[in-house]
Amino acid sequence: MYKIAVLPGDGIGHEIVPEAAKVLELIGKLYGHEFAFTQGLIGGAAIDEVGAPLPEETVNLCLASDAILLGAVGGPKWDILPVHLRPEGAALLGLRKALGLYANLRPAILYKALANASTLKPEIIEGIDLLMVRELTGGLYFGRKYREDTPDQGQKAVDTLVYTEAEVERIVRLAFQLAQLRRKQVCSVDKANVLESSRLWREVATRVAKDFPDVELTHMYVDNCAMQLVRWPKQFDVVVTENMFGDILSDQASMLSGSIGMLPSASIGGKVALYEPSHGSAPDIAGQKKANPIATILSAAMMLRYSFQLSKEAQVIEDAVVRVLDGGYRTGDIMEEGKTLVNTEEMGDLIRKEIETLAKQ
Ligand code: NAD
Repeated sequence: MYKIAVLPGDGIGHEIVPEAAKVLELIGKLYGHEFAFTQGLIGGAAIDEVGAPLPEETVNLCLASDAILLGAVGGPKWDILPVHLRPEGAALLGLRKALGLYANLRPAILYKALANASTLKPEIIEGIDLLMVRELTGGLYFGRKYREDTPDQGQKAVDTLVYTEAEVERIVRLAFQLAQLRRKQVCSVDKANVLESSRLWREVATRVAKDFPDVELTHMYVDNCAMQLVRWPKQFDVVVTENMFGDILSDQASMLSGSIGMLPSASIGGKVALYEPSHGSAPDIAGQKKANPIATILSAAMMLRYSFQLSKEAQVIEDAVVRVLDGGYRTGDIMEEGKTLVNTEEMGDLIRKEIETLAKQ
């Protein structure tokens, strides 16, 4: 039996997470696995109910589970709260820290059927298949931050960017291991022309590369990488970078796939892995059944592959998504002329129907 903590969170989390949970239930039924789901509170929903964005009960539930399925947290309702109570900072960063999840994996794949849904030209994005590996528990987001008054320039705000050799080594090593399973290329992204932390990053990456003679390592400055991602994204296999650069570049890479609603993610390396879509809680469309559930459903597929070693079952989910897209069904974010517009639940139903068909073959 696989124990799964289910944390819908806020906004569209309540619409997309149930679709992914139903997919897992179906996979369990078809392939003889038992998934036990336990729901927990996180984010704004937890603030409203128990007064804290990351209740201890939720952390304990996660620690007692085999994997975590998360929707998204945050929304305008909670933006006025002090930083330590805001869903994004306190809940997400807190959970990553509590679980020791130091690596975020975000694949960006172009589905052929969506070649026209991206804002980039089809010939630029056709065939892209890259994996963004982002360091998740260090850097600016976790460094010491404070404000103080200056005598004559108003307030001063300070964020600190800290990385140790050990932190860099473990994420870069993981990127090399993942590249060995793919096209054997790692691009390490930094800003070594300006930042000391980046110079250390580059030194460590170069050293780690010696242990992986079968993998080619290149270095790229982050500003150039932002440009190359839209100029010629096919050049990338595995991209590894620090926390904030990865945050920005992975959202940029999401547009290669047409919509952020298509992009799954896995946060691994710690006690229990966490799977969530790459997007946020999309307050602008929450409660309207417009959200694309595919990113969350593909995150569930990543859970099967990385946490439970159920590659065949993961592949069935991924193939079912391709078949539904090939069949011309689209949620609003990937809609094109001549295609059939469906809502969140209908998209989930269509994917489950294809999973049943594939399981019989
Ligand atoms: P967002 O990702 O929620 O939305 C950006 C745009 O993409 C919106 O137009 C939204 O409608 C659209 N979108 C996102 N997911 C979609 C889906 N599945 N289907 C269709 N369209 C989709 O980012 P934002 O608007 O910057 O942030 C909204 C809230 O989410 C904020 O409170 C933010 O802090 C939070 N957030 C949370 C996470 C997380 O929980 N991991 C990540 C990013 C942002």
